[in-house]
Amino acid sequence: MKLEFHGHDERYTVEQSLLNLFPGELPVYGPILPEDENWAVVTWREDEERGHALVELCWRGEAVSSGYEVPLSGTPYEREGCRRYAVGAAFFRAYQDITGNTPPWGMLTGVRPDKLVTEALAAGKPPEAARELLEERYFVTPRRAALALETGTAAFEAAKSLGPRDVAVYIGIPFCPTRCAYCSFVSQSVEKSFSLVEPYVEALTAEIAAGGRMAREAGLRVRAMYMGGGTPTTLSAAQLDRVLAAFEAAFGPALDGCGEITVEAGRPDTITAEKLAVLKARGVRRVSVNPQTMEENVLRAIGRRHSPGDIGRAMELAEKLGFPHVNMDLIAGLPEDTPEGFRRSLERCLQFGTDNVTVHTLALKKGSRILLEGLSIPGPEAVGEMLDCAEPALRRAGYAPYYLYRQKYMSGSFENIGWTRPGGECLYNIYIMSELCSILSFGAGGSTKMVDPSRRLIQRRFNPKFPKEYTERPEKALSNQADFAAFYAG
Ligand code: SF4
Repeated sequence: MKLEFHGHDERYTVEQSLLNLFPGELPVYGPILPEDENWAVVTWREDEERGHALVELCWRGEAVSSGYEVPLSGTPYEREGCRRYAVGAAFFRAYQDITGNTPPWGMLTGVRPDKLVTEALAAGKPPEAARELLEERYFVTPRRAALALETGTAAFEAAKSLGPRDVAVYIGIPFCPTRCAYCSFVSQSVEKSFSLVEPYVEALTAEIAAGGRMAREAGLRVRAMYMGGGTPTTLSAAQLDRVLAAFEAAFGPALDGCGEITVEAGRPDTITAEKLAVLKARGVRRVSVNPQTMEENVLRAIGRRHSPGDIGRAMELAEKLGFPHVNMDLIAGLPEDTPEGFRRSLERCLQFGTDNVTVHTLALKKGSRILLEGLSIPGPEAVGEMLDCAEPALRRAGYAPYYLYRQKYMSGSFENIGWTRPGGECLYNIYIMSELCSILSFGAGGSTKMVDPSRRLIQRRFNPKFPKEYTERPEKALSNQADFAAFYAG
């Protein structure tokens, strides 16, 4: 879409709105020509007290214009915030006028829409005011605002028990048996990169040892650990044992307040009784088994090698070993799936009786086979139907939403939601999604986040992305740890 700005340069706001409301449209800067069918002219005027954004929007040859006026006051930074908001709101209204659509999350473009709720509650506002903020200021639909109120409240409650030196730990295992059709994650197929696994485990345990030392010296307390990927259970039972033993030994007393150790077992074809027994013996209390669908044809379409029967067998093993918390992941919008197929998958998941179910919406990721091979996927309306059936079914079965997030290029611009039965919340998921505390990440592609909620300060450090690079450059991870220690020394 051609974009022209007058009186401002709010590129970021307009580009994010474009991405959110017109998926697939890229911003193009240059003079708008008579033959152009998709364009927007965004104008800003202001005086001492008021600002006015005007958006003239043309989509497929049809044009509308929409204005939004805001009072201006405060510091230059606050006035800038008002301008940004007015530009986004005018763009959103013009979009609504021209398409007649009501996007579920209104004009919100970020990953964490419920953060507004958590912040409003922390500022002492009543829940109703937080909900009104979403609906009236950001045009969020009442149903999504209600969901955000529930998950934002769960984060507000979780934050109460966190101290200033409480952190969470993430351990990444970037290997998978095969690559799923919707994935762009830099996971390596174990078949192709078998020789990398052992040196990776070696480097990882060394990084964990150094990180644990740093955490103890800095007086940090680990409240939750999450091992994800990739697929952690692509490691052998002995390798899993080494990684978990390294974690235990390195952090020692820093784990005294750690009530939660989770391993994303992930793909059912990698789960064995021996591996689950190792996890259990090492204090893992929560595992995730991620079928994504229970439909045979959909499993084939996404490149999984396992059958619905294998999922059942993995669930039986998890039950036999007595993990107190088990999560199952589903994705709405996978290739070959239908609303009816998704409803069947959800029903079969619910029959397993796990205390956590996470319902994702398919996100179209660059580099995924879905895009590269042009696989056909259900449209936004069908995905909406899938999610519409999920919410009441989960509520009837006793689940409530406790964390949510959005990703770019999601089908229908919906969201991912973690559902739990009472008392089954995975704290790590709340901490990371609501940015409540620092996350110290180990492994290739690890993204360490240093969070100081009192100063609203967040800094990030990244480990090398690929396993080979990671094992060959341990100094990068160590320098990230030094920055982490410095963050807490200040
Ligand atoms: S299991 Fe997850 S990380 Fe691995 S290929 Fe599939 S989507 Fe990607």
